[in-house]
Amino acid sequence: MSRLVIVSNRVGPVRDSARAGGLAVAIVEALKESGGLWFGWSGEVSEDGTHGALKTETVGRVELATVDFSPDDYRLHYAGYTNRTLWPILHYRLDLAEFDREMDRAYRAVNERFAARLFPLLKPDDVIWVHDYHFLPLAATLRAMGAEQPIGFFLHIPFPVPEILTALPNHAALVRAMMAYDLIGFQTERDRRSFERYLQEEADAVVSAEGRVRAYGRTVTAGAFPVGIDAESFARFATSADARRQVDRLTRMIADGLQIIGVDRLDYSKGLPERFRAYAEMLEKYPDTRSHVSMLQIAPPSREELDAYIEIRQELEQITGNVNGRYSSFDWVPIRYITRGFQRRTLAGLYRFSRIGLVTPLRDGMNLVAKEYVAAQDSEDPGVLVLSRFAGAAETLDGALIVNPFNIEAVADTLQRAVHMPLDERQARWTRLWDTVRQHDAAAWREAFLTSLKSCRA
Ligand code: ADP
Repeated sequence: MSRLVIVSNRVGPVRDSARAGGLAVAIVEALKESGGLWFGWSGEVSEDGTHGALKTETVGRVELATVDFSPDDYRLHYAGYTNRTLWPILHYRLDLAEFDREMDRAYRAVNERFAARLFPLLKPDDVIWVHDYHFLPLAATLRAMGAEQPIGFFLHIPFPVPEILTALPNHAALVRAMMAYDLIGFQTERDRRSFERYLQEEADAVVSAEGRVRAYGRTVTAGAFPVGIDAESFARFATSADARRQVDRLTRMIADGLQIIGVDRLDYSKGLPERFRAYAEMLEKYPDTRSHVSMLQIAPPSREELDAYIEIRQELEQITGNVNGRYSSFDWVPIRYITRGFQRRTLAGLYRFSRIGLVTPLRDGMNLVAKEYVAAQDSEDPGVLVLSRFAGAAETLDGALIVNPFNIEAVADTLQRAVHMPLDERQARWTRLWDTVRQHDAAAWREAFLTSLKSCRA
């Protein structure tokens, strides 16, 4: 069996699966199965950066190898090109994207130096799986060094339509570099089609029926591989003692009221101000929901060094203040907004207690919170998932109430509908959702991707 090599920006954790998200667990399981190497950034910044000593660790059959960033790599590549250019562009936010040649150069240089550190570690029969937008050009550099192994790439975030992507000054070079992969996986069919359309419109690509695209003298296979969660174990979290404690506490506190829950990293792609406004609109338009339907939003901050993230935080605090000032009563608060992380078991309990899971990103690769909410429900009395059409998850989770997050009034109306949804409809919808979440779990995702990658060369 060939060895698996995973490349991702962050590496691990391998041992502590309670701390790891479903995705890290899926990757670790794949590595354990075939034995493997996991390569990436150490999470640390040092003067030597990528030129410093390789940090290695072996855990069972899994080897970890990481390098540091230099302060400039961190500033220009990580906090620069990946977070200020690629993240906004790939989330359709041209208005927030920053274009800067120095950042662009740093991104390429880091990819080249990562490839140079990885290349000597590779064995001839390895299968290499590269993750996410930090490493779009990695395979091209590895190929230039002589790597002939199968190399697959999975994009965890959206791939925008060509009308957006072509605003990126170096889009042609970037997409051309992607052609060095054998397989490129996207979260949705929509993303895959955008990639294909880009190549047809910008590079006269020829597309075959099996999803092979030929352009720039190379052929890649492009496919949709929707990421899943470790569904069964998340469902077990939801009935753990820890989760039950949360449910009991909330039941005592909220008594006959209902709770809407939102859980997101604090990011402008998540549509949080629009979500808060939609909730406020529901209170305004449907007075029966006042003193009855509250909202718990959990949103730990991320990337706090960027202005766009500071602004969104301030905006949310302001809306929360306004809504709570206007609609609170002496014994009821509409919005509880919490900016810290929780253990996954606790989170599972919070989902389980909540009648409505409100997941309304303006743009999201997949959105795993939507799937976790479904997995945590009680089959006897499940809640309702209200899901943005712009989350990748909407392509498969058709049992949800699908909304346009920009249409505040429609989201408010949908919330009202979810509040009053009868038990039999909730159960019917949830059963469909759970079937999908359970079937398309993290293990199925990784099997599908790796099988496809290995067959690219067959
Ligand atoms: P993204 O990858 O853009 O952050 P996803 O919804 O796909 O969005 O994944 C987010 C993951 O982070 C989920 O597994 C979710 O449970 C977890 N998460 C988000 N907020 C918290 C929190 N406050 N505490 C613990 N886990 C969180």
